[in-house]
Amino acid sequence: MAKEANATVLQRVDVTPELMILRIVPDGWTLPEFTPGQFGVLGLPGSHPRHEIADPEDPLPVPSGRLIRRAYSVASSSQERQYVEFYISLVRSGALTPRLWTLQTGDHLWMGPKFSGMFTIDRVPAGLDVLLVATGTGLAPYMSMIRSELLNHRERRIGVIHGARHSWDLGYRSELTTLDRLFPGFHYMPIISEPDQEPVPWGGMTGFINERWEEGAFAEILGHRPTPEDTHVFLCGNPMMIEGMIEVLGREGFVEHTKTTPGQIHLERYW
Ligand SMILES: Cc1cc2nc3c(=O)[nH]c(=O)nc-3n(C[C@H](O)[C@H](O)[C@H](O)COP(=O)(O)OP(=O)(O)OC[C@H]3O[C@@H](n4cnc5c(N)ncnc54)[C@H](O)[C@@H]3O)c2cc1C
Repeated sequence: MAKEANATVLQRVDVTPELMILRIVPDGWTLPEFTPGQFGVLGLPGSHPRHEIADPEDPLPVPSGRLIRRAYSVASSSQERQYVEFYISLVRSGALTPRLWTLQTGDHLWMGPKFSGMFTIDRVPAGLDVLLVATGTGLAPYMSMIRSELLNHRERRIGVIHGARHSWDLGYRSELTTLDRLFPGFHYMPIISEPDQEPVPWGGMTGFINERWEEGAFAEILGHRPTPEDTHVFLCGNPMMIEGMIEVLGREGFVEHTKTTPGQIHLERYW
C-alpha cells in the first residue's frame, strides 16, 4: 500500500451509514487546479480490507496488488487549496467503496494527480439562469460550483433541486438552506421520494423530480417556468432521473449539450 498511497484523510463526516464526506490532503504535492464540476480519482489496492457493512466480494476477489480506481466529483471550492472534498455513497456490492468505508482520519489512499471533466458551468452564456438537478451524491459537483464563485454572479438566478429517498439522506442540506436564506438569487428545493418513512412529517416536496417538473412545480425556484431560451439545466445522479428528465425537457424544447452541438441540458453520468 505504501507504494501507491500519496494522500491522507483529513476528515470524514458520516451523513448516514451509507453516505460520507471525505476531505483528502495530498502528501507533499500540490493540489491540482480544477474547474468546479470536474472530478478526481481515488484508489485503494485490492489487498485493502472491505468494511463489514458491505457485501462479501463476489464472485472473484480483486487481485491484492491491483489499485482499484474510481472517479469522484469534487465537492469543495476550487479556491480551497489545502484539501479536496468528496461526497460518496456506499455501493455494498462494489469494489472500491466498501474499502473506502474503512478509512478514518489519518489513513492513507491514492489520489490521481489531475482533475478533469467537461461538466462545468463556464459553457453557460452569461445572464442565463441555471438549474442544478441531482439525486444523491450527484449533488457533489454543484457544491463545488456554488462554493467557488457561482453566487457572485448576481445577474443570473440559480436553483438546486436535490432528490433523495429520505430527508436524512439530503447531504449539505443545512449549508444549502443557509445560502438560500442569504442569497436572494439562489434557491434550494429538496424533494424526497419516501415521505411515509419520515418520523417527523415532511412539509416539503415529495415524489420524483421528473414527475414534479412536468407539473411545473419548479417554476417558483427561478420565478418563472424555465424555457430553453432563458435557462440551462444540469443533471447528475441516478440514471433513471437523468433519462426521465431528458425526456421531459426534450418535450419542452431543451436539447442536450454536446461537443459539437450547443444545447441547454448538461449531463454527468455516474454509472
Ligand atoms: C465522472 C464521475 C464522477 C463520479 N462522482 C461520484 C461522486 O461524487 N460520488 C459518488 O458516490 N460516486 C461518484 N461516481 C461513481 C464512482 O466512480 C463509482 O462508480 C462508485 O463509487 C461505485 O464504485 P465501486 O467500486 O464501489 O462499485 P463498482 O464495483 O464500480 O460498481 C458496481 C456497480 O454498482 C453500480 N453503481 C455505481 N455507482 C453507484 C451508485 N452511486 N449507486 C448505485 N449503484 C451504483 C454500477 O452499476 C456498477 O456497475 C462518479 C462516476 C463518474 C464516472
